[in-house]
Amino acid sequence: MLRFNDIADRMLEYSPGVDLELLQRAYVFSAKVHEGQERLSGEPYLIHPLEVAGLLVDMRMDTVTVATALLHDTLEDTLTTRDELERIFGEKVAFLVEGLTKIAKIEFTSARERQAENFRKMLVAMSTDIRILMIKLADRLHNMRTLSCMPEEARQRIAQETMDIYVPLAHRLGIHWMKQELEDLAFRELQPHVVEELERQLTGGGEERDKYIDEVIGIISCKLREARLDTDVKGRLKDLASIHAKMKNQGLALDQIYDVIAFRIVIDGPSEGCYAALGIIHAIWRPVPARFKDYVALPKPNGYRSLHTTVIGPYGERMEIQIRTLEMNTDAEYGIAAHWKYKEGRVEADGDQSRFAWLRQLLEWQREMADPHEFLDTVKMDLFPDDVFVFTPRGEVINLPVRSTPVDFAYAIHSEVGNQCAGAKVNGKMVPLRHILVGGDTVEIVTSQHQFPRKDWLDFVVSGKARSNIRHAIRGEETRRSRQLGRDILSRELRRAGLSARKLVDDGELGELAKNEIRGGTVDDLFAAVSYGKISAASIVKKLRGEQVEDKVRPVPVQQRLRSLFKRSAKEASAGTGIRVSGLHDVLVRFGGCCDPLPGDDIVGFVTRGRGVTVHSRACARVFELDPERRIDVDWDTENVIPRKISIRVSSRDKPGILAKITNLISAAEINIAGVKVTTDQGDRAVQNFELWVSNVGTLNAVMKEISRVKGVLSVDRVRG
Ligand code: MN
Repeated sequence: MLRFNDIADRMLEYSPGVDLELLQRAYVFSAKVHEGQERLSGEPYLIHPLEVAGLLVDMRMDTVTVATALLHDTLEDTLTTRDELERIFGEKVAFLVEGLTKIAKIEFTSARERQAENFRKMLVAMSTDIRILMIKLADRLHNMRTLSCMPEEARQRIAQETMDIYVPLAHRLGIHWMKQELEDLAFRELQPHVVEELERQLTGGGEERDKYIDEVIGIISCKLREARLDTDVKGRLKDLASIHAKMKNQGLALDQIYDVIAFRIVIDGPSEGCYAALGIIHAIWRPVPARFKDYVALPKPNGYRSLHTTVIGPYGERMEIQIRTLEMNTDAEYGIAAHWKYKEGRVEADGDQSRFAWLRQLLEWQREMADPHEFLDTVKMDLFPDDVFVFTPRGEVINLPVRSTPVDFAYAIHSEVGNQCAGAKVNGKMVPLRHILVGGDTVEIVTSQHQFPRKDWLDFVVSGKARSNIRHAIRGEETRRSRQLGRDILSRELRRAGLSARKLVDDGELGELAKNEIRGGTVDDLFAAVSYGKISAASIVKKLRGEQVEDKVRPVPVQQRLRSLFKRSAKEASAGTGIRVSGLHDVLVRFGGCCDPLPGDDIVGFVTRGRGVTVHSRACARVFELDPERRIDVDWDTENVIPRKISIRVSSRDKPGILAKITNLISAAEINIAGVKVTTDQGDRAVQNFELWVSNVGTLNAVMKEISRVKGVLSVDRVRG
């Protein structure tokens, strides 16, 4: 068990002048208030805050951070109050413990709506002082290390939350060792069968692999020594999660031992040494074209620097090598924590504010976006950046996510440039807007006053910034059109009654009416309401004439309005869709082909003029492109559940009996199979496409999980659209 003295000693090593008095007090206080409490493992509770503090000392954090770590659970789990903490430890520690307590109450694996909103809260909390996030990550890491004591149900939830939220955040802060350990622990919990299978295959080649690593290290070390470079060469097994991801993405089988090994050369000296080493490596083995990446000259947004290259090794195999200096290596492991500097009450990364740029960007978005779902959808992409660097014609570097297009580039320059992006030249040649940029391209955007963002751009842009700007513009256009339509409908009705719309607008009479009909609404809102059938043109005419209208103040109730607009014929109604629109079950309903929602899925409806209501999954990206004015409440009709046909894709090793096992699992869950298509590639991989009649998303998810546990199955996915 880690003792307080170990923490104090280790802290004195990197910070000799440190005042340990605060730490000592925090330790004594924490020991007192947690007295008698136990963790689920049966150990004294105090072990947990001590271990968390220890992790932060490993990252060479300051006394306030380490003291906060010792106290981090006192507000939540003991009778301690914030005032007490402030009195004894000062405002800063009290503030940090309070921030952590707030985050601890946040649940991420709740309904999507809450999850999105909570993610926002967490970003706001940690943006006030990034040390909150550092402590939270250390807290989570210790909890993941001791996960086996938790009940099965909680383990799954915690592991999933770790994978979804904390792994990307650790990655974003550039703390590689922490990202890797969190990911590995979560992966083992979530995919035990895949891990078992991978490990079984990996132990097989153990001896052969060690021999290969030794041989390669021998060759590299010898050549670098001849060139008088002071280096340390290591060969290591890649982590399981990334091996699995590679196999899944490229459809590779794990029979090539070389695929799972990566080499790293760490140079004691200036960064020029990296290029010298690279030259030597490329002289021994032929480099694979287009696999060389220079993150030394162009660091990743999280601060990562290294040279990456792939060469054809001694046995004709592809060999991945990273080259970096000692300093870069420390940066890569400790990330933001390697650049700590404390000013009076404020923490800053030394001189390099770009490390925080992403956090500021996220906060800007959360202010701009009213809809938490949209926010989550946008940040998801930007939390996993794998970047390419391209150039403006003037030689400025622009950092973009992989698979970016000229449209992404244009929006990265300025939103106006994006909105008016009409064409693009890459390296001097005209290219289509959906052209995929590669690192080193020089990109020039041709703008036009007459260009507007187009819906189909959303099919190929990849950056959050482009996506949110395009959606914004499209929604604006949709609103404009609906107002125009409403205006036309109303003008016609008024003309029939011998009135002039223009005159009524000029007199302010329509404005007055709008204000009364739609709380605080304008004439434009009134037009929009008419176009979506929320208010009928006829009733407006009546009101203008001062005639009595039934239901004087409120507009026609939503049910009545929908019934008259989209009532289905008797024949259609009997078919049933299993959906209730604002409590009605006889409204014409279609399902969005893009997301194919299932009973039990979180859903939302949109009024489509003349075509009833279209139902989308709440998670569907299309939802953000539709005018929120058209949104309407829908829910599943739990009394008349209608099964829907959906597809899933199972990819597996091509082994006898697998298909039978999967089909049995599906039938056992009482799901009907409408069809199966099996394809095999030249390797040993088979892909099975199932069409299923499903009446409940919970059952489907349970079956998909069971299928993923069948030995030999690599992945199970729902196919949409
Ligand atoms: Mn804790």
